[in-house]
Amino acid sequence: MNYDVIIIGAGPAGYVAAIRCAQLGLKVACVDEWLDPRGMPSLGGTCLNAGCIPSKALLESSEFYERTRHGGTAHGVVVTEVALDVAAMMAHKDRIVQDLTGGIAALFKANGVEWLQGNGQLQPDRRVRIAPHQGEPHTLTAEHVILATGSAPVAIDAAPLQDDRIVDSTGALGWESVPQRLGIIGAGVIGLELGSVWRRLGAEVILLEAQDVFLSMADQQLARIALKLFKQQGLDIRLDAVVKSTRVNAEAVALEYQDRDGTHTLSVDRLIVAVGRRPFTDGLISPETDLLFSEQGFIHVDENCRTNLPGVFAIGDVVRGPMLAHKGSEEGIAVAEHIAGQDGKVNYGTIASVIYTHPEIAWVGKTEEALKGSGVQYRSGVFPFVASGRARAMQETDGMVKVLSDAATDQVLGVHIIGAQASELIGQAVMAMEFSGSSEDIARTVFAHPTLSEALHEAALAVDARAIHIARSRKTTG
Ligand code: FAD
Ligand code: NAD
Repeated sequence: MNYDVIIIGAGPAGYVAAIRCAQLGLKVACVDEWLDPRGMPSLGGTCLNAGCIPSKALLESSEFYERTRHGGTAHGVVVTEVALDVAAMMAHKDRIVQDLTGGIAALFKANGVEWLQGNGQLQPDRRVRIAPHQGEPHTLTAEHVILATGSAPVAIDAAPLQDDRIVDSTGALGWESVPQRLGIIGAGVIGLELGSVWRRLGAEVILLEAQDVFLSMADQQLARIALKLFKQQGLDIRLDAVVKSTRVNAEAVALEYQDRDGTHTLSVDRLIVAVGRRPFTDGLISPETDLLFSEQGFIHVDENCRTNLPGVFAIGDVVRGPMLAHKGSEEGIAVAEHIAGQDGKVNYGTIASVIYTHPEIAWVGKTEEALKGSGVQYRSGVFPFVASGRARAMQETDGMVKVLSDAATDQVLGVHIIGAQASELIGQAVMAMEFSGSSEDIARTVFAHPTLSEALHEAALAVDARAIHIARSRKTTG
């Protein structure tokens, strides 16, 4: 055997698995075919090259721009002249991506992970055919193979991608000018994040969402607050809107969509298609390899990410579960430890979700709707940021924290936050749930004052109707 482990895919699932394997003393190679816009091989997969990192860079920059223009007035800071340099903003984003992807190359080197640049294909008996970007194809063997080939955007017939006019998320992360009128198909995570970026930079943004429920995966109390706030910001979110056709001409993209009131037309300068992602396995498996897939095209795995083939594992977006970087990374660590004879495990019940809009939306565990649906008796405590001294000082009074706990045991079942820095606050809830904590545990924890975290404390107190900083704390049960 050439290696203990060969990993196909160097996104957050594959590269983390590779480093953990190396830490555990395994001889490991990681093959990846990604080429950056300069045509250079680049580690980090979708997350670093075209996902989490570039989108967050643009979200930060665009929020900085918006706050500079409008955010200072109440603080007595008057800004008279602000200019936007989109090319510089994009260059800043590209530098962050290059630094971080280069950082993974350095980590590979430091840990002794061999980086194979090119395409990998699984063949029977844990053989992997490598087609390098440069050089001849060859075959390597390993005791274990980890498939981590990630996901790709879902395409729809009604809106085929065209130049820089109809694009997927990758295209919309690279525009060098602000569209006047931007259409987005899909008001999910990508639609809302990229819609926020371009709205803040000056575009009129219209989101067409097929479902009649906004953010159906989120707790609906938060989703309703979010919808109201996003509409106030100027995001034109149209629910129950199914795009039937698109036509690109010299000036515009003409759309036809249907909702409960009939058929409508819409003209936009550019259009983003953001209707979900699909597991990516194109060309990954040789025809004679008998790998099992789910009906939706995910590689079938058990709870330990084992496929039906001995010694072959699959992790990240290409398998069931949320398509999130941190979920894939944890699976990578668990599989590496499993291969090394340890007991690696992922707690799927405590994978946090975050939408990096403003305010941010973050949650972990069950929504109220899910608890009601499964008949679990629960108690709920809510605390609004308007009652937080720190939130007021920050002019960040929108939103709330909600803690849901089991009515019988008080174990925390879910925490839902909409508000500034929800992405950071949710970590405390994840920790509490990871330790099987109760709302009483959070209520008895001393939080520094004044902080946004105190809202989590007060929401936990509110579960037992004893929040201090709301006039009438009532018991809510379901
Ligand atoms: P990927 O990151 O997709 O990596 C797969 C790698 O495999 C790629 O490098 C690809 O080149 C390589 N590959 C595929 N097939 C082969 C082959 N046959 N041979 C060689 N190499 C191959 N998630 C979050 O948690 N937080 C966020 O804020 C966030 N923001 C996002 C924003 C956007 C715009 C997008 C599109 C996604 C975002 N995601 C976010 C999702 C996140 O990017 C994915 O969940 C994550 O990248 C999945 O990791 P992965 O390692 O499974 O796959
Ligand atoms: P999504 O599932 O979040 O949203 C897609 C939306 O498009 C849904 O609301 C869906 O109802 C709608 N839709 C589907 N078909 C449609 C159609 N034909 N017309 C109109 N609307 C339609 O998917 P996404 O926003 O593309 O993101 C893909 C995945 O990437 C996410 O599920 C998430 O796992 C990951 N991601 C995560 C983050 C983050 O963690 N902050 C950010 C971006 C992406």
